[in-house]
Amino acid sequence: MSAKPVAGTATADGADVAAEARRRRSFAVISHPDAGKSTLTEALALHAHVINEAGAVHGKGDRAGVVSDWLSMEQDRGISITSAALQFTYGDTVINLLDTPGHADFSEDTYRVLSAVDSAVMLLDSAKGLEPQTLKLFDVCRHRGIPVITFINKWDRPGREALQLCDELTERIGLQPMPLTWPVGISGHLKGVLDVTDGSFVRYAPTAGGARRAEDERLDADAAGAEYGEEWDRAVEETELLTASDGGFDAARFRDGSATPVLFGAAVRNFGVKHLLDLLVSLAPAPEPRPDVDGNPRPLDADFSAFVFKVQTGMDRAHRDQVAFARVCSGVFERGMVVTNATTKKPFATKYAHQVFGSQRSTVETAYPGDVIGLVNASALRVGDTLYTGKPAVRFPGLPSFAPAHFAVARPADLSKAKQFRKGVDQLASEGVIQVLTSDLRGDATPVFAAVGPMQFEVAEHRMAHEFNAPVRLDRLPYSTVRRLGDPAQRALVDSGRNSEVLTRTDGADLALFTDDMSMRILLRTHPDLSLEPLVAEGT
Ligand code: GDP
Repeated sequence: MSAKPVAGTATADGADVAAEARRRRSFAVISHPDAGKSTLTEALALHAHVINEAGAVHGKGDRAGVVSDWLSMEQDRGISITSAALQFTYGDTVINLLDTPGHADFSEDTYRVLSAVDSAVMLLDSAKGLEPQTLKLFDVCRHRGIPVITFINKWDRPGREALQLCDELTERIGLQPMPLTWPVGISGHLKGVLDVTDGSFVRYAPTAGGARRAEDERLDADAAGAEYGEEWDRAVEETELLTASDGGFDAARFRDGSATPVLFGAAVRNFGVKHLLDLLVSLAPAPEPRPDVDGNPRPLDADFSAFVFKVQTGMDRAHRDQVAFARVCSGVFERGMVVTNATTKKPFATKYAHQVFGSQRSTVETAYPGDVIGLVNASALRVGDTLYTGKPAVRFPGLPSFAPAHFAVARPADLSKAKQFRKGVDQLASEGVIQVLTSDLRGDATPVFAAVGPMQFEVAEHRMAHEFNAPVRLDRLPYSTVRRLGDPAQRALVDSGRNSEVLTRTDGADLALFTDDMSMRILLRTHPDLSLEPLVAEGT
């Protein structure tokens, strides 16, 4: 959120809210670690004239440097960064780039961020194509109907063939590629790209270390053909081939999630990045009315409403407070507003609405649909909560919980802390830090923690010890396959298996856990009527 209203003088009346919403693009980059997400983020900001020079991002080690660059950028140029979202303007468009945690681990936080975006950029490494985390995140986008733009990165160095990468999209995820640019010259020997929309050539002019924003140099088709001969002809042929077989670009197919526009580039060289920004502006959806629990879309110019998609504790060590990140869905957010929490019906004062990064804070004054606000002192807020003002009251659907892949029995390390232990476990479950599973067989005193990514266990352990004064011992369980048990009467069947058991989650779902696929298949062979349902991203 910008502390200052972004270009223009928006007031709180309906017409302006709709106009402000229309010029916003809220998206996330989904990628496997090392595909270049931080590099691309920085390059996007660079192209948006946020900064004149990008601090080079080279690997994880330098991440702290990037962060501090951002902080000074924020002070110098009035752009805003939270650990949840980076906001900047590009021409007249307000871009909200929501951060998905980039570490190798996977947590539910990552998924929840995708409930707060209107589109996603799928970033692929040209040498690797679709990688496991890209696939998982893409699955969530598909479930939620989030349209995806594909950016194939690192084209400045040897990688796979463009056609092969496009085929992979069709074959592995059933997504039709609609290339808008096409590389001229094989990867590693990039000459530029063919702009499929007008048949012109954009020259690849690497900028030293990616330090400066490169202006596009364009040639018409004849000039490109004369200069690059066979390489140009091949690019033209390949795009014609693709267009002939797939019917060419179709914006409706992008929006319905069956096709993806594809761009080629090299984020570290700032190549292809302007094209991506232009595409976000021209094609990516602006915020739309969000349906409430009854399926009725809340108009953008209705009174203020937002939903909490992420809660973070202890961002500022000195304060050890809780920050709730909420996406604005309708109306104007103004600092100082008293909003109602639809879950508890209690008021929440936003006097302390801030944009937060680490220990740095600046106050948010105004935010519109699509923007992200960070609410501090938010211990009363939970992931999935709806906040609103005025009438009618509104409640958005809660956020889905995801299929856990890691399980551990939790026990109090100190038996005299049983009460604190129980309180801490309840709190972590309600915040969605981990899922909590129990069964009569195990008893309430030894709940099972379930996580999408193992790092969630570390967070839970740390908070149990430091916040609730109830250190835990976690003993990992060997389960890797999980299904929802459709019929509670079949519980004993699963429990009788040597490598399986049923545990009940706090939301009431019965989860059947198996050590591996084989154990599940063996049980299914003897009990073909066993009702086991896949559990991807429920509630989506
Ligand atoms: P993240 O883990 O997805 O955030 O990836 P990073 O942005 O940290 O990039 C991982 C590595 O790939 C770094 O060493 C980057 O310099 C490098 N990288 C990113 N984009 C490009 C690119 O376009 N070309 C080349 N050759 N390297 C790149």
